[in-house]
Amino acid sequence: MKAALFYPTLALCSALLLSACTSTPQQSAVSADLARLSDSALKSELAYDVVKSLTVEVGPRIAGSEGDKRAVVWAEEKFKALGFDKVYKEPVRVRNWSRGIADAKVIAPYQQKLFITALGGSVATPEGGLITQVVMFDSLASLKKADAAQIHDKIVFINQRMQRDRAGKGYGPVVIGRSQGAIEAAKLGAKAVLIRSVGTDNSRFAHTGVMQYSDDVEKIPAGALSNADADNLQAMLDAGKDVTLAVEMRAKEHGWQTSYNVIGEFTGSESPEEIVLIGAHLDSWDEGTGALDDGAGVGIVTGAAKIIKNVMGQPKRTIRVVLYASEEFGLTGAQEYTRKHKAELSNIIVAAESDFGAGEIYQIDTLFAPAAVEQAKPLFEALANIGVTQGHNQAGGGPDVSMLPKYGVPVVSLLQDGTYYFDYHHTANDTLDKVDPKALAQNQAAYALLAYFMANSEIDTRPAPAKTTNSH
Ligand SMILES: [Zn+2]
Repeated sequence: MKAALFYPTLALCSALLLSACTSTPQQSAVSADLARLSDSALKSELAYDVVKSLTVEVGPRIAGSEGDKRAVVWAEEKFKALGFDKVYKEPVRVRNWSRGIADAKVIAPYQQKLFITALGGSVATPEGGLITQVVMFDSLASLKKADAAQIHDKIVFINQRMQRDRAGKGYGPVVIGRSQGAIEAAKLGAKAVLIRSVGTDNSRFAHTGVMQYSDDVEKIPAGALSNADADNLQAMLDAGKDVTLAVEMRAKEHGWQTSYNVIGEFTGSESPEEIVLIGAHLDSWDEGTGALDDGAGVGIVTGAAKIIKNVMGQPKRTIRVVLYASEEFGLTGAQEYTRKHKAELSNIIVAAESDFGAGEIYQIDTLFAPAAVEQAKPLFEALANIGVTQGHNQAGGGPDVSMLPKYGVPVVSLLQDGTYYFDYHHTANDTLDKVDPKALAQNQAAYALLAYFMANSEIDTRPAPAKTTNSH
């Protein structure tokens, strides 16, 4: 169905893609354009201004809350104020849960307050709280092997520390305890589960994050201890003491509410139906102001699109900025976007999401049709000038676009330095002061280069359409 115009055979010698051609003046013109855009984006404070505006004027915005509703209005107004050609929102049914208070203390053998927070989606403790003994495990895997007699009527403490890593590789092996801990502990008769926070800091801020229940297993309260308090509790248990905790949590479900994916576009001047999608998520957890997660991403992709328009003019293909609803509660907005836009997913030239804080980007991974990787050489060269090296061609694209590759949508991952991201992730300490304006501007430049190159070249990153007998 697509016009042949944008398929690689014709694209190879186009104005922007000259790796297989000889016309070096045009090649250098492309490089000069990319360099000019990159310089402007590195100097622009727009991404920072946007995340500042979101964190100061809206702040916490957990899905379905009043803060979330204010964030939707904020996003529409921001896109309009920045002069996006089209600004619209698409409804998403989201789960609305509130944290309420979460208190814990050691009452025997010593008396100490513990700093905890409820995991996202947890039930409350019974009225008046729980008082019972605690049993420690070093991982979810060890808990699964435990004897029910050891756990029955007790609180399970999963004490696994997350390792610091630039790419965030320490997260996956530990976060399974957060998501599955309540199910596995309840199967063995536990009254509640507390995990060591999934975070790399040594503060008394506890890290929340979504957790799961299973319909056939009792729902027990689930919380996270700050790393410092997990250390304290561990010291008591390591000493062989019987430790009794009092825990009270008043988390609550408020049913399903309507939120929105908010979308701003610069419409393509030549191929408006072809889309370069850059996204971030608009929701956040409720305790911080969602600066790193994911105000930074909102600033980066919004700033990148606007700077392209300012510096390079109208893009040839449409640049679409999608601010997704309810990423934290199970990628709800992204799933709805994918469902609603199924018929036009084949028009997406590339999709990428910024959702890993505000650290500098060091690598670009792609998921392109193999021929397109070579065609994207000018982009890789421009990115190399701002410290971004070319990685592999098996990218995932970021959480909210991760479901698109199975529909044949090409994606890009711009990998950020996440060394310190998990010190603040999902805590009350995720605030604007953690965002480095200079690193944010480098992100803005990388997204601007990506989106501009994809929108203004004739590169076709998509898998070749299946040949039919009457083609050509
Ligand atoms: Zn996020």
